[in-house]
Amino acid sequence: MTGRFRILALFLCLWVLFLPVASSAQNTERTSGVGFYFDTVVTVTLYGAPEGLMDIIWQDCAFYEHMLSKTVDGSDVDRINHSAGEPVKVSEETFEILKRAKEISQETDGAFSITIAPLTALWDFTGGTERMPTDEERLEKLPLVNDSLLRLEEGCMVTLPAGMEIDLGGIAKGYIADQIAAHIRDQVLGAILNFGGNVYVVGQKPDGSSFRVGIRDPLGPEGSSCAVVSVADISVVTSGIYERYFIRDNVRYHHILDPKTGSSAQTDLASATIVSESSMTADAMATACIVMGSEQALSYLSRCGADAVLILRDGTFLSTEGFEEKCGFQPLP
Ligand code: ADP
Ligand code: MG
Repeated sequence: MTGRFRILALFLCLWVLFLPVASSAQNTERTSGVGFYFDTVVTVTLYGAPEGLMDIIWQDCAFYEHMLSKTVDGSDVDRINHSAGEPVKVSEETFEILKRAKEISQETDGAFSITIAPLTALWDFTGGTERMPTDEERLEKLPLVNDSLLRLEEGCMVTLPAGMEIDLGGIAKGYIADQIAAHIRDQVLGAILNFGGNVYVVGQKPDGSSFRVGIRDPLGPEGSSCAVVSVADISVVTSGIYERYFIRDNVRYHHILDPKTGSSAQTDLASATIVSESSMTADAMATACIVMGSEQALSYLSRCGADAVLILRDGTFLSTEGFEEKCGFQPLP
């Protein structure tokens, strides 16, 4: 061995020797933050994140809110809703969401419809007025709900017939979770992004174990869980009838509307949880399942090969084949 090689070999030995020490000194610090975007409390927990990443996540949230919110002047959705039937150019991101929304609308025979907006405008589930439309109001708007009339053309051009409006409340949070998860994936050891029921877990916990994500008890008090899944690098999305609702004459009116009636979906389901690498797909699917009810939802989910657990209004769990093992599903006592 020449002197130069000996030095190189010594250097390599030292490097290999110190490698475990260096990696064990890796930053595993946990940081967490809470924000309010998309009309929802957003909580973020990061493990081993570089300084400033949390701020970048909030900037991303604000960016997407300005693009996708129906109530932000000048957002893509606002411009589509005020286009009076004229074509509108939107961002590639908005276009991608609209494309997926239309596909899911078709797959679900319209149970998922972003053109639901003229009907959601007739209801107030959160503002304290508990407003519900009269039958005339409801029936008058029903013909405006039809996602197949939304035209998507080359160059991100979108045309919506005059009088119709869209609302991305059932899909946008999933898309944003996907984007932020992809953005931070290489910068953290692990992370939990929670957009009010749209959870994305990135990587693993610093000790190498999977994250345990609680499934909200749809029949219990706020914050209570009735089951958990143990997962890594995946999204867990729940839609439920407990989120925004009021009760009148013993009927629970909640914020997921049946596009065929314009009223709250009155099915046997209390919640639907989908586990998927695409939070956007899971978000739209979960909303659609509530509208479809357990029987149709299970056949739709198995057709799509989706992993899901449905909770009936009587508390029964129904899951897709192999869900327990795949997602480490455990009901809680
Ligand atoms: P959340 O946004 O509360 O997590 P969902 O993902 O189930 O719950 O979305 C519900 C929201 O989607 C409603 O607030 C409304 O904006 C919109 N929406 C309601 N009914 C439908 C429907 N049938 N298809 C698509 N979007 C819907
Ligand atoms: Mg949804």
